[in-house]
Amino acid sequence: MNAPKGWYESVSMPRFGICIGCEGKIPYVSARNTEKKLGGRSRSHRSSTYSVASWSRQLCASCQSSISYIEQIGCPHCGRAVRCTDCERHPLFVHGLTANRSAVAYSEEMKAWLHRFKFQGDVGYAAIMAGMMLHRYELLAATIANFHQQISIAPLPLYERLRRWLYQLPSVPYPDVVTFVPSTAERLVDRGFNPAERLAELLAISWDCPVMPLLTRMTDQGRQSHLGRSGRELALAGTYRCHTEALQMLCANTNKNTSNKSPMYILLVDDVYTTGSTIRACAGALTGALRNYGISAIICSYTWARA
Ligand SMILES: [Zn+2]
Ligand SMILES: [Zn+2]
Repeated sequence: MNAPKGWYESVSMPRFGICIGCEGKIPYVSARNTEKKLGGRSRSHRSSTYSVASWSRQLCASCQSSISYIEQIGCPHCGRAVRCTDCERHPLFVHGLTANRSAVAYSEEMKAWLHRFKFQGDVGYAAIMAGMMLHRYELLAATIANFHQQISIAPLPLYERLRRWLYQLPSVPYPDVVTFVPSTAERLVDRGFNPAERLAELLAISWDCPVMPLLTRMTDQGRQSHLGRSGRELALAGTYRCHTEALQMLCANTNKNTSNKSPMYILLVDDVYTTGSTIRACAGALTGALRNYGISAIICSYTWARA
């Protein structure tokens, strides 16, 4: 939906938008009114935060009601809606991952949306998915903070505590750095973008924190959707490495804030958590590299969907 530019456009333009989900008509909402409320420092920052903040206005009521949010955490480790024995048998902390949380369950509707975003290149879905993740973050992060006490140790700056008190926001931690599951060079050429990177960028812009490409993917073992958990882990062994330059930057930044002794909170973003093999492999590579650089960190992952 584009905002009308002047009186002629506002009279001649149809007073409805098109739903990104079903392409049905939805009531038109002035983009300018929304933008005023959002503020922002630069044009690009404003347009990114605008598209994420107004994500629900790009969906009709029917598509909004089809979103399968995870309402209750059944597994405190991977954030699945039901209890899962997999995390009990293969704990995430072994790979250095504190917990995973996902905004939605991977229903047929959600699968179709991801397919259009990831495989058909409909990048308009990035803002919709990032919007959903943003919308659910505080609720989901609070469940990690309750479960893992060390998350809440990081002291928040005074202005942030004041802001949360004023707006009655829950006192959940926000990441110090957002990173993402990397894509291979071949897939980047094929798709033209990395879905996980798009989501990470939009979240980081909204939270006003840095997004860093901490990981790289060495080889492409092809699609793993047909493999089981152990098959995927075998295929992924040694696939992810840390990006040396990005780690050096992170290290330099950490050394600048030597007064802050609390561990750094790193959020690893991906589109879907299926067996968790990719996230585990990434967290393992990240944990090993951070240890070598002497950086103390808590790593959590946040995916749009949990299969
Ligand atoms: Zn719709
Ligand atoms: Zn689990």
